Amino acid sequence: MTTRVERRRLLEEAGFNVFLLHSEDVLLDFLTDSGTSAMSAAQWAGMQRGDESYAGSPSYYRFESAVQEIFGFEHVIPTHQGRAAERILFTTTCRPDDVVPSNTHFDTTRANVEAVGARAVDLPCPEGLKPAESHPFKGNMDVDRLEALFRDEGSDRIPLVMLTVTNNSGGGQPVSMENVRAVAEVCRRHGTPLFIDACRFAENAYFIRLREPGYENTSVRVIAREMFDLADGCTMSAKKDGLANIGGFLALRDPELARSQRNLLILTEGFPTYGGLAGRDLEAIAIGLEEVLQEDYLDYRLASVRYLGERIAAGGVPIMQPPGGHAVYIDAAALLPHVPPVEFPGQTVVAELYLEGGIRGVEVGSVMFGRHNAETGEEEPARMELVRLALPRRVYTQSHVDYAVESILAFAGRRENVGGFRFSEQQPVLRHFTARFAPLYDLG
Ligand SMILES: *Cc1c(COP(=O)(O)O)cnc(C)c1O
Repeated sequence: MTTRVERRRLLEEAGFNVFLLHSEDVLLDFLTDSGTSAMSAAQWAGMQRGDESYAGSPSYYRFESAVQEIFGFEHVIPTHQGRAAERILFTTTCRPDDVVPSNTHFDTTRANVEAVGARAVDLPCPEGLKPAESHPFKGNMDVDRLEALFRDEGSDRIPLVMLTVTNNSGGGQPVSMENVRAVAEVCRRHGTPLFIDACRFAENAYFIRLREPGYENTSVRVIAREMFDLADGCTMSAKKDGLANIGGFLALRDPELARSQRNLLILTEGFPTYGGLAGRDLEAIAIGLEEVLQEDYLDYRLASVRYLGERIAAGGVPIMQPPGGHAVYIDAAALLPHVPPVEFPGQTVVAELYLEGGIRGVEVGSVMFGRHNAETGEEEPARMELVRLALPRRVYTQSHVDYAVESILAFAGRRENVGGFRFSEQQPVLRHFTARFAPLYDLG
């Protein structure tokens, strides 16, 4: 617990960037649900039997069969995180000037596409861009625009299509099975592989069960498998629905592609049976992937997020409707209409929630996805100004969430008195992690 005066000083020392705070100075940490899960007794027990053989460890084979059984892909390539899987995937599939469409690329995904000289294109469905409007599957890809992109670019410029489930940057919103099927059909017609960014596959599968007609009585395991059966491979961050603190993988059907990817893996991550992870990490992931499919867990998980979202919405805070699987997204542009996008209303909300209650969220707006135009010196804003409050899995209780609701509503009550921010320092890639800011108003 810190006082407001302490938080004011700590925030200033961190350049008003909450990524640069010490986590001990944060009371409720909603920065991310990535790697922040509490591991279960079974996972800790699994870690005790981790086998640290360099090659051919039994821990790898347990991990491999868990992935094969749930995801159905034959080739399983462990990586230290999801982004390493992305880097290997795009390095082995993309050439400069290629185009990689997605419903919405996650920030590291976009950065890895761009790092190999290709272009990352977001094709969210129209409903996904209207925060206030409820729709059961706002994470869907716009299939007509995907068709148009194939027409405009030609299939040889599009080495693969990505589909992010749930759509993290698009508000943690689910993708329907119908949409996965439609996207897969377009891909098949053009002979283009479909890869799923599977970070929150279990949450997405549970949403399908809850919301998509015909799936009411299908288990999430079967739904998940049906999703992956429509795809050619996936990238995965085990720090999300792997319920682990570190890890990821790339999994696919194509043996030739897998061979070249394993070569790159050896160069940058490690031998193919550990890929940048310890044997004990592979055990934790294998067990986490099973646990995350437990429907009582998923029921509680989605209910917790919905509870936070519904409570602050009832208090007049505009949020992305309906609440997503892992996070509630505050619509900062609607909450602070007097702060223009180039003054980063989301950054204001993030700073103010820390000042108010020691709560750490993350801006998902023009700081993260906007661009600094070096020629004009101007900021080009993003499409939406959101603030994500991500709930770590199996960590917080309802009383923590109640405290968060009180703090958020207290800030919302004095929203007229806040202004915006400007960058005082920024880097050309993934600038939100390291940037420093200066406020354009008196923070008190
Ligand atoms: C977290 C995440 C990634 C990257 O995974 P890391 O393990 O953080 O490298 C990719 N895509 C999505 C949708 C994510 O949420």
